[in-house]
Amino acid sequence: MKIAICGIRHESNSFSTLTTKLDDFRITRGEEILQDSFWSSYPDVEWKPILIGRAGPHGLVDKGAYISMRDEIIEGLEQNLPVDGVYLSLHGAMDVVDVGDGESDLITHIRKVVGDDIPITGSLDLHANVSPILADSTSALTAYRTSPHIDGAETRKRAVDHLINILSTGKHTRNVLIKLPLLLPGEYAVTEVEPAKSLYTKLFDIEKRPGIVDASILIGCAWTDSEYTSVSVIVVGEEDSQEADACAVELAQDIWSKRHEFKAEVETVSVEEAVTKAMNSEIYPVVISDSGDNVTAGGAGDTPIMLDELLKAHAEDAVIAGITDPEAVDKCVESGTNSVIKLNLGGKLDTSNGYKKQITGIVGNVVPSCMAVVAMNGIKVIITSDRRAFTDTQGYKQVGVDPLKEEIIVVKVGLLHGKIRDIAKKPIMAMSPGFTSLLLDELPYKRLKRPIFPLDDLSQFNV
Ligand SMILES: [Zn+2]
Repeated sequence: MKIAICGIRHESNSFSTLTTKLDDFRITRGEEILQDSFWSSYPDVEWKPILIGRAGPHGLVDKGAYISMRDEIIEGLEQNLPVDGVYLSLHGAMDVVDVGDGESDLITHIRKVVGDDIPITGSLDLHANVSPILADSTSALTAYRTSPHIDGAETRKRAVDHLINILSTGKHTRNVLIKLPLLLPGEYAVTEVEPAKSLYTKLFDIEKRPGIVDASILIGCAWTDSEYTSVSVIVVGEEDSQEADACAVELAQDIWSKRHEFKAEVETVSVEEAVTKAMNSEIYPVVISDSGDNVTAGGAGDTPIMLDELLKAHAEDAVIAGITDPEAVDKCVESGTNSVIKLNLGGKLDTSNGYKKQITGIVGNVVPSCMAVVAMNGIKVIITSDRRAFTDTQGYKQVGVDPLKEEIIVVKVGLLHGKIRDIAKKPIMAMSPGFTSLLLDELPYKRLKRPIFPLDDLSQFNV
């Protein structure tokens, strides 16, 4: 059997004033895709790897960037026709300038080339905002079941196995999609914490039922302002079975009944309170999530608001990890370690929520074109050339900072994941402003389908 591999993976933040350019994507093509040993575990399949584009969460995708990747996928498919099936590697929350929902556009173009009959399956991030067009145009969609995400490999395997099953048995499947009028930031749905935990555990039970092939709960991405933004349920069933419809309704009702229970797993307070609580804490390190400027969800990573607050409060033994400012990194490198430096730090990417903060400090370790650390009044600021989430210890070590020795660590992340989650003796979520503000009712939604809970008073939901 001959199966094409393609996809574009992006989580697009509509509130960001920045755009995701072609250069932001890591693109793998052809044989390069097959370098991953996963594909060779299917010796009977003749893979036709075309293109997979991946970029971290950021502003809407630039139209030209998207079209160039899409066109390459379409040309690649045309050259490899006929194929028996297509595996799609997607995130599911891509929005493109002047195009709109990226996955809807991509699947429409793919179907035009391969026709309506061959099966297509796809893997998604659980922060996908799934469109009905994507669900109707594919045989099986399956999403991560963990947040923080640790099951990318298993999810891809499920999507590929579903496709191979359809091709080898001739038994077709279909997606049943239910979109709930529910808007939920990922920070409020950690799969190890209730109510998400038992809802996600139930998926393993549902997929074992007769006639059912797969089940997913998608939290969606609340910062993509799209007509498809919402929590969704997908149950994949055998084509001739009605069981999937009933299971999807059951799951959707379960989620809806628990809508009031989704909340942050950690203390959620204002910026000012976060600093006060951190300074009064008796256990260290305290890790403060600068949640409004969360680079793992499309934040700019350069608002100096937390730094300003720590300086005002005369905090000591604190590290800000980090502030994106390539210009400032270059200045630090030029100035040299141990020199005194004056900087107008940050506020150059997110000019709507951030501002340039004047600081004077001493340059510590520098890594040219990458990062530098500046110390002032007991506070260290790690300045980076690229937007970076300091979720592991490696980044700190690169500039000689030991996070375990700090009392307060501020990260440009919302939900803590990776090593920093283990290091945090006391995690605090600061409701800071930025492109990833958790104050959803203050965000300027334009395309979001209303009414939606919790923005609107919605007590009834009829599936
Ligand atoms: Zn995600």
